[in-house]
Parts: sequence; structure tokens; C-alpha cells
Amino acid sequence: MPRNNRPKRSERGKRQTEPEEIDFSALRMGIRREETRRGVSYTTQTSIGANADDDKAWVCPHCHLQITKGISHIVAWDTVRGVETRRHFHTACWKSFQGPLL
Ligand SMILES: [Zn+2]
Repeated sequence: MPRNNRPKRSERGKRQTEPEEIDFSALRMGIRREETRRGVSYTTQTSIGANADDDKAWVCPHCHLQITKGISHIVAWDTVRGVETRRHFHTACWKSFQGPLL
């Protein structure tokens, strides 16, 4: 029996160097992730605000100031209750927001 028998060696690293397929629609829509605040799971997504309806502005539930079109911000919703509960936050406001999302 040969001593240096490492059959898998030539294939090592091959899969790891394959570039991940880039989803351009996800890139445009922002990065989606999940966060937990006080035991409640929220789904958040970054938004560059560019695909907003004309002249649409949102009121940030944390500081009660408007988020106008073109401002990068966070869209967050209750993961359990669903996307219907989504609200738009300034990025900094979402970081200090502790819920609940009404
Ligand atoms: Zn705000």
C-alpha cells in the first residue's frame, strides 16, 4: 500500500475559489438581514431610497423626522407579523431603536 495516498488533494480549494454568483437584483434592493431586539425578530433591509414612488417620503418612527427620497436608510419589519409591518428608519435611528414596531 502506497504511503502518500491522498486522493482528494488535487481537488482541495477548487470549490472555494469559485466566485459566488452575484445577485444584482438583491444588490440593488439592499442587503437583507435579521436582527433581534428584546426577543422580537426583525428583518431589515438597506434601501437607497431610489426606487421610491414619486415624491414619497417616510416618517422615521424613532425620531419622527422625514426620510426623503434618495437618502440611504433601513427598512425594518417584524419577521413574524410580516412585511406589512415595515417601517422606514434612518440608519442611525434603527441602531438605537429597541422596538416594538407598532
Ligand atoms: Zn430617524
